[in-house]
Amino acid sequence: MIETNHITYESLLLGNKNWVEKTLQENPDYFEKLASGQKPPILWIGCSDSRVPANQVTGTLPGEIFVHRNIANVIAHNDLNMLSVLDYAVNVLKVNHVIINGHYGCGGVAAAMSDKQFGLIDNWLRNIKDVYRIHKEEVDAIQDEEAKIKRMVDLNVIEGVHKLSATAIVQNAWAKGQDLQLHGWVLDLNTGLIKDLEVSCTSNVSFDKVFKIA
Ligand code: ZN
Repeated sequence: MIETNHITYESLLLGNKNWVEKTLQENPDYFEKLASGQKPPILWIGCSDSRVPANQVTGTLPGEIFVHRNIANVIAHNDLNMLSVLDYAVNVLKVNHVIINGHYGCGGVAAAMSDKQFGLIDNWLRNIKDVYRIHKEEVDAIQDEEAKIKRMVDLNVIEGVHKLSATAIVQNAWAKGQDLQLHGWVLDLNTGLIKDLEVSCTSNVSFDKVFKIA
């Protein structure tokens, strides 16, 4: 586990000052540029887990990725927070890529696959149990417990991409000819490497009629 005993709220403020100093040494007009606006080409939807920060794991900087994170990178159609981020990203920032990034070792997915009560969060984790219901046959056929949960991490991302593609926000963008690609990725905490699940989606052409709303 990462050692965090040295982290206090004061140390964060000191860390911020050091970062500003270092950044200005390397690039004196950095904050002038940063303050003048943003045009990130990517929306990242990831897990709140402290080990998967969008910028660090992709080697990107402030201003380069628009980010939404929640427990287990769940896509829920009634999540006004996620929908607002998606709407702003697609219709105002006009991002070209939306990436759902899951990660192996996800506590949210593991909790959803258990038979225990965790309190309020059970309502959120229910979305992941729904993913299991859809893919029960495949998941139940996996004997190894760890492999089973890993596959559920994949499937939670894959279903998330499908749910995103079913939103009016995404389909209206495609109908207008906007260049918008949806992707599903998973990061392996054991290696730090990201795997592309190759479920990218660029139009609703192949969708069943009920999912084709634009
Ligand atoms: Zn997680």
